Amino acid sequence: MSFILRCTNCEYKAPYHPMESDCPKCGSQWREAEYDLDTIAKTLPQELPKRPFDLWRYHELLPVDSPNIELSMGEGGTPLIKANNLGLMLGCPNIFIKDERQGPTSSFKDRQAAVSMAALKEHGITEMVVASTGNVAIAYSAYAARAGIKLWAFVTSLVPAIKMREIALYGSQLIKVTETYDLVKKASAKFASQRNLYRNMGARSIPSIESMKTISYEIAEQLTLLLGSNEIKKEEIPHWEVPDFYIQAVSGGMGPIGVDKGFSELKKMGFTDKRPAIIGVQASGCAPMVNSWKKGLEVAEPVTNPRTYIETLATGDPGHTYKILKKLVDETGGAFESVTDEETFRAMHVLAKMEGISAEPAAAVAFAGLFKLVRAGIIKSEDTVVVNCTGHTVPPEKFVLGDNWAHNVELPKEAEASEKTPEEGILAALSHVVPERFSRVVIVDDTTEVRLLIRRILQSQGDFHLFEAKDGKEALRVIRRENPDLIILDLMMPELDGFGVLDELKADAKTANIPVIVSTAKILTRKEKNRLKGQIQALLQKGDFMSDEFLNEVHTIIS
Ligand SMILES: *Cc1c(COP(=O)(O)O)cnc(C)c1O
Ligand SMILES: [Zn+2]
Repeated sequence: MSFILRCTNCEYKAPYHPMESDCPKCGSQWREAEYDLDTIAKTLPQELPKRPFDLWRYHELLPVDSPNIELSMGEGGTPLIKANNLGLMLGCPNIFIKDERQGPTSSFKDRQAAVSMAALKEHGITEMVVASTGNVAIAYSAYAARAGIKLWAFVTSLVPAIKMREIALYGSQLIKVTETYDLVKKASAKFASQRNLYRNMGARSIPSIESMKTISYEIAEQLTLLLGSNEIKKEEIPHWEVPDFYIQAVSGGMGPIGVDKGFSELKKMGFTDKRPAIIGVQASGCAPMVNSWKKGLEVAEPVTNPRTYIETLATGDPGHTYKILKKLVDETGGAFESVTDEETFRAMHVLAKMEGISAEPAAAVAFAGLFKLVRAGIIKSEDTVVVNCTGHTVPPEKFVLGDNWAHNVELPKEAEASEKTPEEGILAALSHVVPERFSRVVIVDDTTEVRLLIRRILQSQGDFHLFEAKDGKEALRVIRRENPDLIILDLMMPELDGFGVLDELKADAKTANIPVIVSTAKILTRKEKNRLKGQIQALLQKGDFMSDEFLNEVHTIIS
């Protein structure tokens, strides 16, 4: 390791020590780590193939002398997952999910905790303070346990009880304060300075910011392999792919600041020629950065009374972080956007149903933001987008699932059941819960992925009998055989297209009255629209239909 801290206020350079948080010359707390990027650019490409895919892979770019294997729990190195169904639904084929749920404590705060604890341990520090909206305290508590560091965790009383118990489980001192997060932070700062303890200072803590960089390095390596346009080369300076957009739910703003620093370093080293646009998404009940950015303010207006269920994101006063983040959002051509709690819970449900990813509400904020920005045309169909899925599920039923999220099976009373085995009793009881006859739906589309998407959307409701056809001719055969309650029909297909299928269906009395929903990627001409008039029940534009709208149509038609 060779790095030095540069003061972003007066440019004075000084070595790093965790207990010295101020610039020795001007007293500013805002400093940045600088590395010998010229040398690293030459040595790193040869070293990487020998190293495991985790955060310490990039250790010469981290503020730790030597990685401490004893502390490591496999932090970093999370998968980058292609979101095929979301891509189809939104009409953007290149959406990728950086799945930070897969870290040791299931949020991207693991990176901060791992690097911070390694740095503290190296400098002989044995006690520290954090203020947290939940996940920082959990991650730091886990790594503190391994590092033998005593941790004081200050949280607001709104943090879900399940997260509080996890903090306590790791043996941390949990201080619950019935106040806003901003006041909890102030209380923890007082406590730390009275006792002269190291305190995690968010974006001013060098190990925390630096740890977040590893997200960008990983994304670049993974995207290069996934997009297949280039191989990771050892010898010369490699060319790595970076996305057009990086989207993240933002509270204190540490993530995007670190991630942008990573992409900027990659650019300085010549590994990439682009700096991705950064998009910060906040919950509308606590969106000081979004509101201030939209008003064009240089200094953020704090939100003194956050109103959101999404406690993880309830930083009401971003302070100087806003200034840093605004600058990089503007420089990269990014944006700030806010989403309501309702939009967030809906996005959370869509993500789980369509991609098999169960994320916590704070992480779902980023996805709700993605949906909004695609609709607004800020993210275009050809853009490559990485969304950070920042954290794991907290039991979601209360907000997301409504009342009928499970089938209750009650066994018949003993008298009635006397003739049957218990298994037969359960099956008999099940027949009351699950209807004998499902609505029958034929899905007609020549693209396998689209058939799979529509199947998945309907399936997640649980009560359809589904048939598929991959062209017009097969469609007519399947429809005549299965006599469905509904047909979902693509227009553009080889041989017999959707218009042809409709003509044949309408000409036959047996099929003339089956309802049809046309789903098409084609922008229809007036003549084509006229041709469909009176023939179909609904028209859905592919790439633009989100599952709930589509399901509403299906339900209205079938009932
Ligand atoms: C901390 C956290 C955020 C916000 O991260 P910042 O970059 O620090 O604003 C988002 N989502 C989850 C799950 C978090 O734990
Ligand atoms: Zn200074």
